Amino acid sequence: MNRKQFISLAGLAGISPFFPDIPASGNQENQHKPQTSVPVIRFEKIKLNLWHDWTITRGTAKFKENVFVYYERDGITGTGEAGHMTAAGQNAERTIRELKQLIPLYKKIHPFEFYDLPEKANQIVPGLAPAKAALDIALMDWIGKKLQVPLHSFYGLNPGKEIDTSFSIGRDKPEIMKQKVKEAAPYHIIKVKLTNDRDEEVIKIIRSATDKPIRVDINEGWKDKEEAIKKIDWMAKQGVEMIEQPMPVQMLKETKWVKERSELPIVADEAVHTSDDIPKLAEAYDGINLKLMKSGGLIDGYKMAIIAKALGMDIMIGCMIESSVAISAAVQLQPVARWLDLDGNLLISNDPFKGAKFIDGHWEMPQENGIGVSKA
Ligand code: MG
Repeated sequence: MNRKQFISLAGLAGISPFFPDIPASGNQENQHKPQTSVPVIRFEKIKLNLWHDWTITRGTAKFKENVFVYYERDGITGTGEAGHMTAAGQNAERTIRELKQLIPLYKKIHPFEFYDLPEKANQIVPGLAPAKAALDIALMDWIGKKLQVPLHSFYGLNPGKEIDTSFSIGRDKPEIMKQKVKEAAPYHIIKVKLTNDRDEEVIKIIRSATDKPIRVDINEGWKDKEEAIKKIDWMAKQGVEMIEQPMPVQMLKETKWVKERSELPIVADEAVHTSDDIPKLAEAYDGINLKLMKSGGLIDGYKMAIIAKALGMDIMIGCMIESSVAISAAVQLQPVARWLDLDGNLLISNDPFKGAKFIDGHWEMPQENGIGVSKA
């Protein structure tokens, strides 16, 4: 039956002849795919001002430059965002260069043939690249809007599963750390970055200011497994509930040794970027820190959740300094997480978008279609 015959039959049967998903032509390639127009893909750099100076090893930043991507097709716009790990040599200019390389692929591909898109993007821009995440988030936002479902529904996730997110505090002078604990009042969990230098002292300072659960991020700082397990035993008694990336990525055997003896779960961060990295980590870690800027977006992020689950590993969802766009995208995957570390947009004073709402220590799942964001 051709399209014309179908429409006339549909009309006879009293069915609306408006059926946009039927291909307009007998074009073989498009026969089983929804018909869509040619996409327009735009991007812009936006300066995000920080409420507080952000201190990193190389200096202090007052703002971050993120790149926003808009995927327009069929009168619908999907929005994505790239946030950067400056320490990994990432910045807005590099992202824009990579976007220019990747956009032809996104223009060519049918939007509902996204399964192997991450692989195709990796062939053009290999390795870590937030540009891939920005395009992926924009496309998935578009898909959700096109199908008129929020993305968590598209992925079949229970939107009612909301968990508390942690708020990160860096190493600083005792008074400043105590002050930051006070400022973290809206959060029910504190995450603290340790450096293998007077770790116990830092925990004692935080503990003197709050009785909230503490999670620690060692950022590969511990080099001795015996010492690591001693510290973990002590921290467990101080109400620390999770240890992130305790040892260097390449010390996999030692991390496995620690994990087998640790009463606290050990989570991989630097050791894991995409779904490809997970299988080799299963024996050495209890969980993985999933960040959209590392995975290259939601398609691989969802795949990471499935692979981790199959290997008996738990998921943490983390972020960079990002606006409501990338944070709301990450919140869509919230139901797969055991731990949440999504505080990026709460650190900026001029968020250009609004999306998921932060209420009483946790993110409410947006009910709007796609990732659930709009212009602020
Ligand atoms: Mg980390």
